[in-house]
Amino acid sequence: MGPPGGGKGTQAQRLASAHGIPQISTGDILRAAVREQTPLGVKAKGFMDRGDLVPDEVIIGVMADRLRQSDAQKGFLLDGFPRTQAQAEALDAKLRERGPSGVRVVNLDVPDQEVVSRISGRRSCGKCGAVYHVKFTPSRKEGACDKCGGALVQRDDDREEVICKRLEVYHAQTRPVLAFYEKKGVVRSVRGTGPLDEVTALIEQALA
Ligand code: AMP
Repeated sequence: MGPPGGGKGTQAQRLASAHGIPQISTGDILRAAVREQTPLGVKAKGFMDRGDLVPDEVIIGVMADRLRQSDAQKGFLLDGFPRTQAQAEALDAKLRERGPSGVRVVNLDVPDQEVVSRISGRRSCGKCGAVYHVKFTPSRKEGACDKCGGALVQRDDDREEVICKRLEVYHAQTRPVLAFYEKKGVVRSVRGTGPLDEVTALIEQALA
C-alpha cells in the first residue's frame, strides 16, 4: 500500500518476479480494459480520469475473477488493492475461504510533495504499459518505449489537476485501511524514497 505515485507498481513488479508470484495490479487491469474498450473499461474510464475510485462492487468482482486464475493459487502480490474498507473486508472473506491467509502488508511512506513531482514526470507506453520517469528512469530514446518501441504518453490521471484529487482520495479512503491491517499486526512501513534498489531491499528486509 502507499500513495499514488509512491512506487507500488515498480516495487511490486520487482518483488513478484524475484519471488515467482504474479503481480496483480488493479490499475493495470483497468487500464488494459480501457485500452481495449471492454465493458469494464467503458465503466471505469470516467472515474479514473477524474481521480476517483472505481466503485467497490465493480473492483471487488474484478479481483475475485483474477484470484480464481491458476497462477494465483500459490500466492500473489496485490498492487493498488484494497483501497477502501469494503474492499479490505471482501478480500479478507475471499482469503478466509482459501484457508489460513498469511497476508502481509507493506506500506510505502512517501510524502505528498514527492508524489506530485514523481507523478508529473511519469510516462507510460500506450502499447505495453511499461512505466518510465522523464528524470529518474528515462527511456533510452526519448518518447519511445525500450521494450516495444510504442509511444510514451502521460496517463490521463497523471495530469497535475487530477493528482491532487487522487491524493485527497488516498488520504480520505485508502490510508485509513491501514488501521484494518494494523489491528491484525501485519503491517510493515517502509521508507519509499531514495534509490529503487534500496527501497526493494528495505521491503525484502521488512518481509523476512
Ligand atoms: P493506480 O494505477 O493503482 O494508481 O490506479 C489508477 C486508477 O485506477 C485509480 O486512481 C482508480 O481510479 C482506479 N483503481 C485502481 N485500483 C482501484 C481499486 N482498488 N479501487 C478502486 N479504484 C481503483
